[in-house]
Amino acid sequence: MTKSVSLYIDGAFVTSISKNWLTVADPATQEQVALVPCATPEELERAVSGAREAFASWGSTPLKTRLGFLIRFYELLRQEEGRLVQLLAQETGKVLADAKGELQRGMEAVEHALSLPALVLGESVLHGSVQLNSYLEPLGVCLGITPFNFPVMIPLWMFPLAIACGNTFILKPSEQDPLSTMAMVELTKEAGLPDGVLQVVHGGREQVEALISHPGVTAVSFVGSAPVARAIYRLAGVHGKRVQALAGAKNHAVVLPDAPRDETIRAIAGAGCGAAGQRCMAISVAILVGDQADDMAGQLRETMAELRPGLYDDPGASFGPLISPAARDRFRTLLASAPQEGATMLLDGSKATVGGYENGNWVGASLVDRVTDAMTVYREEVFGPLVCLMRAATLDEAIAIINRNPYGNGTAIFTASGGAAQRFCRHVDVGNVGVNVPIPVPLAFFSFTGRRGSFHGDLHACGKEAIRFYTQTKTITSRWLDEQSSGGSYLTHIGAPAS
Ligand code: NAD
Repeated sequence: MTKSVSLYIDGAFVTSISKNWLTVADPATQEQVALVPCATPEELERAVSGAREAFASWGSTPLKTRLGFLIRFYELLRQEEGRLVQLLAQETGKVLADAKGELQRGMEAVEHALSLPALVLGESVLHGSVQLNSYLEPLGVCLGITPFNFPVMIPLWMFPLAIACGNTFILKPSEQDPLSTMAMVELTKEAGLPDGVLQVVHGGREQVEALISHPGVTAVSFVGSAPVARAIYRLAGVHGKRVQALAGAKNHAVVLPDAPRDETIRAIAGAGCGAAGQRCMAISVAILVGDQADDMAGQLRETMAELRPGLYDDPGASFGPLISPAARDRFRTLLASAPQEGATMLLDGSKATVGGYENGNWVGASLVDRVTDAMTVYREEVFGPLVCLMRAATLDEAIAIINRNPYGNGTAIFTASGGAAQRFCRHVDVGNVGVNVPIPVPLAFFSFTGRRGSFHGDLHACGKEAIRFYTQTKTITSRWLDEQSSGGSYLTHIGAPAS
């Protein structure tokens, strides 16, 4: 019997009464593995009102007690690592090593949340007999909307820190792969997290818009594609909500002639095709600087030709299938457009398949040379195992290409020159920059600082900025009216400057 994915409301895993259910399919076979509901308006209302009720006590629960639940949750994640990784890999199709890496990066975000006591301290000053104290207080009910490509890590970027800060949280996971997210949510219950502190509803645009517009929701964290991020930012703004919207990307690597050749080639192939290119920080464009470009392109082609798609538990597979037939078709269309618009196809993975699993959403590693910024394959985020090659005569020319691109999520330079690296870091208009590091996703105690078209909002996910995002400041100015501290009667001080 097909599994139906539950909602999680007020501590209970409940079956939705919705008439509208979506299929969750195994990307390697396209077989239906579960049905996920589009929550009804009444169910959304219950999720919000339950989260508000829970906030009344959770918001004033001592920080140490709140963190106690997270410590137990973290321990359960560790204990259940094998099962979670298996489920995550199976559901998304990513190979086990990638799934393991995802869980580990997610657990780092929980570790960051556990360091909250040192980071949530306010400020205070004694100004004569007047004391000023500022505190970081929770906001209320926060909402998280997450994408398919990291169904464990990205929810972990959001809810542990939000609830550690004293908020309650409503999570709307991706409808394409909600199973590993739900397995993790079960662990929050096992950890004893009080009912209503974390609520989970499912659905798509309709449910997301209803939640953002709901007066009971205070703040919105979104991670997903660029057009949806823009729409969410606008809608949240209209309703006066605090919002952080992490969006799509087009990440460039710059390769200077002095870069260590073999390591650089391996790094670009891995960063372009790992997780089937379905990472917001995947390297999708490599800008080859100088006259070694033809050699580099040839060597990259050889390395990428060795990569092959396969099942999540195939130890020889480099990456898995794309998430859906729609994603595969889109990949094929975008790849086909490249030679039509004048690029040179060096490696065409559009017909790749895996024996015995022909229904899967397979594509192979692909490489296109002599791409220009006018081409469709460059302008669109492809989200598949494709590297586009561009050429530049100088580092400055490469930087100019990157800064003209509307996205600013991640970039990397490969070089042996400290001076060139420094110049790149200084002038490139991208939020996460790697020097000989192809996918510079910072550790979770740093913020993940996408910019321009890759981020809408003021405060980023993770790190100290996320603590600011999930809290609001209250500043208290006080003095005490006894003789000793005020130096006189209350009346003599009214209207007088504090001293
Ligand atoms: P998506 O935008 O299709 O969906 C993301 C979430 O939004 C899902 O929960 C989905 O149900 C919901 N949604 C979809 N359409 C909506 C609409 N019209 N209105 C409201 N909600 C809607 O993204 P995806 O395909 O799941 O994820 C891949 C995208 O996410 C890529 O573009 C990738 O670059 C981006 N991403 C960005 C980051 C980052 O840190 N910047 C991280 C991971 C993924």
